[in-house]
Amino acid sequence: MFSGTNLPRIGTYNVNVVLSSIQAAEGISRVEIAQQTGLTAQTVSVIVRRLMENGIVQESGSIPSSGGKPRKALRINPKAAYAVGIHFDPTAMSIVVVDMSGQELDHSHHELSPALDPEALIEEAAEVAHKLLANAGIPRKRVLGVGAACPGPIDQSQGLVTSPPRNDRWTEVPIKRLLRRHIGFDVIIDNDANAAAIGERWSGQARSVPDFAYLYLGTGIGGAIFLSNNIYRGVSLNAGEFGHIVVQPNGAPCYCGNRGCLEAMCSSSAITKNVHAELALGRASTLRKLYQQDPTLVDHAAICLAAVKHDEISRRAIDRVAEYLADCAVTIANALDVELLVIGGRGVLQVGDIYKDKVTESLQSRPLARKTHTMRVAISEMGNNCAALGAAALVLHAKYAPNTAHLLSA
Ligand SMILES: [Zn+2]
Repeated sequence: MFSGTNLPRIGTYNVNVVLSSIQAAEGISRVEIAQQTGLTAQTVSVIVRRLMENGIVQESGSIPSSGGKPRKALRINPKAAYAVGIHFDPTAMSIVVVDMSGQELDHSHHELSPALDPEALIEEAAEVAHKLLANAGIPRKRVLGVGAACPGPIDQSQGLVTSPPRNDRWTEVPIKRLLRRHIGFDVIIDNDANAAAIGERWSGQARSVPDFAYLYLGTGIGGAIFLSNNIYRGVSLNAGEFGHIVVQPNGAPCYCGNRGCLEAMCSSSAITKNVHAELALGRASTLRKLYQQDPTLVDHAAICLAAVKHDEISRRAIDRVAEYLADCAVTIANALDVELLVIGGRGVLQVGDIYKDKVTESLQSRPLARKTHTMRVAISEMGNNCAALGAAALVLHAKYAPNTAHLLSA
């Protein structure tokens, strides 16, 4: 949990420290906030009063206390503010509207043709977002902003994708500026893995966990690192590219220039390719008929479903991916020694438990410091919309998460 500070120039910081304690808890008293943050009871009381006056925090229910009378439970008022999250992926676009607690109120999903013009798509995204807000009856003044998640690498200062690996049409498209023009709200842009990690931090598996790593299994494989409650971006803003950790020397070539990267071995297209190769050899499989009918019907989702229903070749392909994910997780544990690894993205749908079991087993037996600390593993429950939900959480996080940067600047 965050600690408050009694130095000057800390107004907003302490407000956000208190807000963060309330947001991470399922009801918390003023006394507990003071204990967690190190702020005086009086400071907490003044800040809470201000947050309640602004409608951001509300009293709801009570918390038993030893001896004295029950204490009032403070909670975030979910209706205090709203955010829109948009995930642009090479093959699909997802848009969500969330409330202040990060809960999804509505969503919209669109399959895309790669030939679609990016600006036309951004315009369409803006239209859909306004429709979702209107359907949910959210007044414009309560919308904090729009978060956009895109496959990296991203140039945040320019608000664009510099070199999308799977879709050249998006190269150097000024997404942030175009989206702002069409949607009329402030826009924050980040890569899909960072966004999904911030979503987990705000309202998912990593809620109130200060140090964790995130492995994102989307169209590609990305990652993110949270250290001391803040996302760690690295000197060139490209930290956390776990998808390019080599797990199989001399394995399949990767577009990054290496061979046997996690992404080259474990992306949804790599899994599909491996299973198709087995089917082409005539191996027995419950997917055989479907493959003979039309190979494109044997896609990643069909393979994952077959794997959990004990189709041998599908299960073998998924087990192999689980082994590589475990190798990567051991490297993450050795390098970062964080509390938790969250694995999310649409790649975990159906097969998340298979991955979790294998990764957990490896983390208990392989990292050097395993006797001192075992990194936990959790599978994201945000499903297909995790990057869009994360994109919306970018907005909430930017506005309300304690950020020490401004305390250090002159
Ligand atoms: Zn690579």
